[in-house]
Amino acid sequence: MASNIIKGDKSERELSFMGKLYFPEIFKGMAFSIKHIFRPTVTIQYPEEKPELGPEFRGRPVLVKDQEQERCVACGLCARACPPLAISMQAAETTDVKERYPETFEIDMLRCIYCGFCEEVCPEEAIVMSPDYDFNFSDRKDAVFGKDRLLIDKSQLQPRLNFLAEKRNKQFGKTFNFQASNNTHSVKNRQDD
Ligand code: SF4
Ligand code: SF4
Repeated sequence: MASNIIKGDKSERELSFMGKLYFPEIFKGMAFSIKHIFRPTVTIQYPEEKPELGPEFRGRPVLVKDQEQERCVACGLCARACPPLAISMQAAETTDVKERYPETFEIDMLRCIYCGFCEEVCPEEAIVMSPDYDFNFSDRKDAVFGKDRLLIDKSQLQPRLNFLAEKRNKQFGKTFNFQASNNTHSVKNRQDD
């Protein structure tokens, strides 16, 4: 293929005398590098050093354990909203006022894409994105997390719950005239009573 640069083309950048010497540009480059040696480091030596993640970070989804039980009422909305169909559950009845709970709840972490849709649709704030991202499996079966690995106490998820309260929950009710008194059955809302 023929070159587009024509000899003597006016659009070709003309080098100045200093530019033709090259050395000034080399020293400029070295000065730039030396200046950055003394600036604060932004890279880290992962995995020995872990990054500090803010509450906005979406790690693996987990179930919120509140008052020694899951907030989840097994409504199935998160499984319905999950794009890669990573969530499965089996609902069962309970004599507790919330009436239903997930007898089994599983998330296939090989399918999960950390989109946060499950968290977004959950009416009970029962599934949230945790800061946990650093895990691996030696077998595909190990990637299916059950309640034993999904249930995390609310105290450990407080930064994310506060983040949701600040950035997400405020919009609830603005469109649908939501009345909090209509939603008193959940573990989450009973605590506010
Ligand atoms: S974060 Fe997204 S992909 Fe993962 S379980 Fe939730 S909805 Fe499914
Ligand atoms: S985690 Fe939330 S959306 Fe999913 S089944 Fe439980 S209550 Fe419903």
